[in-house]
Amino acid sequence: MNLYIYNTLSRKKELFVPLHENKVGMYVCGPTVYGDAHLGHARPAITFDIVFRYLTHLGYKVRYVRNITDVGHLENDADSGEDKIAKKARLDELEPMEVVQFYTNRYHKAMEALNVLPPSIEPHASGHIMEQIEFTEKILAAGFAYESGGSVYFDVEKYNKEHNYGKLSGRNIEDMLETTRELDGQSEKHRSVDFALWKKASPEHIMRWKSPWSDGFPGWHMECSAMGTKYLGEQFDIHGGGMDLMFPHHECEIAQSTAALGKETVKYWMHNNMITIAGQKMGKSLGNFITLDAFFSGDHKLLSKPFSPMTVRFFILQAHYRSTVDFSSTALEASEKGLSRLMEGYTHLQKLSASANSSVETAGLRAKCEEAMCDDLNTPIVISHLFDALRAINLVHDGKETISAPDLTELQSVFHLFIEEILGLKSETEASSGNDAYKKAINLLLNMRLEAKQNKDWATSDKIRNELTALGFEIKDTKDGFEWKI
Ligand code: ZN
Repeated sequence: MNLYIYNTLSRKKELFVPLHENKVGMYVCGPTVYGDAHLGHARPAITFDIVFRYLTHLGYKVRYVRNITDVGHLENDADSGEDKIAKKARLDELEPMEVVQFYTNRYHKAMEALNVLPPSIEPHASGHIMEQIEFTEKILAAGFAYESGGSVYFDVEKYNKEHNYGKLSGRNIEDMLETTRELDGQSEKHRSVDFALWKKASPEHIMRWKSPWSDGFPGWHMECSAMGTKYLGEQFDIHGGGMDLMFPHHECEIAQSTAALGKETVKYWMHNNMITIAGQKMGKSLGNFITLDAFFSGDHKLLSKPFSPMTVRFFILQAHYRSTVDFSSTALEASEKGLSRLMEGYTHLQKLSASANSSVETAGLRAKCEEAMCDDLNTPIVISHLFDALRAINLVHDGKETISAPDLTELQSVFHLFIEEILGLKSETEASSGNDAYKKAINLLLNMRLEAKQNKDWATSDKIRNELTALGFEIKDTKDGFEWKI
């Protein structure tokens, strides 16, 4: 089956043809680790987790690089000001690398909870200063950068004469040059559109390294050009990130790589859309900034209750990655119900018994789901196909319809593949218990209750039931025995 993905650069869906037969290189911009992960981190992580999972399913050997930004990202994404990590370190009286380690650990924990697979390589910007200096030297040698006061800046106007600066974001450089005021001569930059490749560190700036130009630090955009090409080669297949990174970050990455290497580095640019909260942009100043931990604990005024990691994941997957998503407690509650119905049906499916014939139509589900994924990773359509099949499953479960053994095996295999392997959804009880022993213990108790009932020992039977119910278990008696969930 042919996979089509939307390429931000060409603004259309393109047939995915990897540069190297069965190998795919994918680079995704990771977090700047100076605070707890929030929804803005969850969406790109989940979006590219799906890309990673699906390409792997299609048989590609994927090298997935997702970086950790721990130096060079200044306040307001600007070219001057304090480093975000250094500022946090100053406020908390910590070493910058303590801040980096602390929030990297927490980021990993949140990603694991969301069942986001770890990337193949997770390089830190601070561990690749040499590579960034070398990359800057290449751009200087090619004549697309200039040194000024110990810093090095990219010459956007000169680059644009030979290449197209603004082609990814669709911005017009002529407009930008006209509308941005000429600098008053106090700045080191020739033009305000120019951006830093290397910055000389001010005396109070603690994160600094030696370079041919000054003791300083790399510009924010430089890390991704240097690390992407180091691990994936001068040309690689996919570069992803949130839409908010398209300009200036990704636009600058294209300019840097093209200037240094003389060619286009990335074949497919992919961007996930943004998340709003109750229709508003997320932001610390707006008071609607909800960390993932707050979702999981319910500890935020905009949340009616805690929401599990799988509910957050499912909610994100219910929208196409290029659509905006608006988070609200009501919408999350609906997702929670939907997910619980889906996982319950999946549990029923594993226990169904086959009949001689099928009275339900389930053929073609696999092809329909593959088709949706191949159409620019359309997870909401996959989910709707699974819900269609759920109706048949529930009818068979209730004894109103029948399913043959081959149909049942196929349905079980398709559900396993799409729910667990591709969408990366897992049962929450399993997620919280971490092993089978817990399930076996509950089943053991409920089997003892069944025995008690058969022996008309109502006191024991009621005691087990009531105490499990009090612990939050929902127990249902069925004709074959029992069913339970949290
Ligand atoms: Zn980046």
